Amino acid sequence: MANKCNITCKWMEASRYVVNPDGQVLPCCYFANRMSLLQKFPDPKRVKQGEFEVYNAEIMAYDFHNKGEVLMNSYLAQLEDNNLDNRSLPEIMDGKWFNELYDSWDDSDKVPLVCLKYCQND
Ligand code: SF4
Repeated sequence: MANKCNITCKWMEASRYVVNPDGQVLPCCYFANRMSLLQKFPDPKRVKQGEFEVYNAEIMAYDFHNKGEVLMNSYLAQLEDNNLDNRSLPEIMDGKWFNELYDSWDDSDKVPLVCLKYCQND
């Protein structure tokens, strides 16, 4: 899929996605891990020393509140819409948030950091 940020979504190419035990649907494990960190540590300044070692230090080093988190924060605001308790999988995959994700690959102000880190072509 051609886009301005030169992203090739590895999971979409493989027709894969993540469903958490609570029914949350996410586009990939990179996203799911980062989302988990954001929920656990909403304010990175308050993360205790040592907790960094438990999680991926490289990802934790990113600024949680920079422009790369637009999509993460948008997902958190639409949690219920992306849960299988409330919508079918096709409805979720073609829903508002997933379309925001696809559109973000054409917008350097919104493209998620994980997409740049793991799926941007050289
Ligand atoms: S990081 Fe982004 S581009 Fe890569 S698999 Fe996940 S959603 Fe797709």
